[in-house]
Amino acid sequence: MKVLVIGANGQVGKQLVELLGKSEHEVTAMVRDTDQIPTMEKLSAKTVTGNLEKDFSHAVAGADAVIFTAGSGAHTGYDKTILIDQEGAIKAMDTAKSLGVKRFIMLSSIIPKRLADAPESMKPYYAAKNRADEYLKGTNLDYTIVRPGRLTNEPGSGKIDAAVSLGYKSSIPRADVAHVLFETLEQENTYSKTFEILSGDDSISKALRNV
Ligand code: NAP
Repeated sequence: MKVLVIGANGQVGKQLVELLGKSEHEVTAMVRDTDQIPTMEKLSAKTVTGNLEKDFSHAVAGADAVIFTAGSGAHTGYDKTILIDQEGAIKAMDTAKSLGVKRFIMLSSIIPKRLADAPESMKPYYAAKNRADEYLKGTNLDYTIVRPGRLTNEPGSGKIDAAVSLGYKSSIPRADVAHVLFETLEQENTYSKTFEILSGDDSISKALRNV
């Protein structure tokens, strides 16, 4: 499959690109800075420059699948949360639809059931992620929405829990999140599904079979 990773230079994105680069898939890494190209090439990825705040349809053209791992990060204002996590994600979905790309995997986040219960500073983030997820559910894309809890840089254990609702009980290493996105790609039982993931007891393949 020709797979475009949006957010490829991110901490999850890079690990996902590496897995795809070692697989039978053909991976294209979308980065927004030409300085990031050598890193992606070392991971056996083709590279395309593109920015979610501009037109990036050239990056999506020709892909069979898009995996969205981008995010505005904790050090930008709410304006970027809306522009990247919400509007950038929606633009990626619209672009995929218009160019005939069917498979779309969204790296989202566990979102509190009631936004009112979230810390004030996190409300715009959760609202943006939720809006993008709801938009994706309304498309005819073969989507999967993966919602991890707090991300860590611990080594991956390969063991997770995955379910529609887990809540913020624990965290999950970014390495395991990358593996989940990788394995989800061709797992058709995850089409049209939204599920949460945390470190847990099951192998990633077993957990994904049961979502
Ligand atoms: P990260 O390291 O901050 O990576 C985000 C990537 O998005 C970066 O590569 C960044 O590019 C890219 N990006 C930002 N703005 C862009 C734009 N305008 N155009 C194109 N690319 C852009 O994030 P992470 O740690 O891998 O996390 C990935 C996702 O998981 C995020 O969406 C985050 O919200 C979500 N998440 C995080 C947590 C947590 O505990 N932190 C929990 C649940 C879910 P540059 O490399 O050029 O900066």
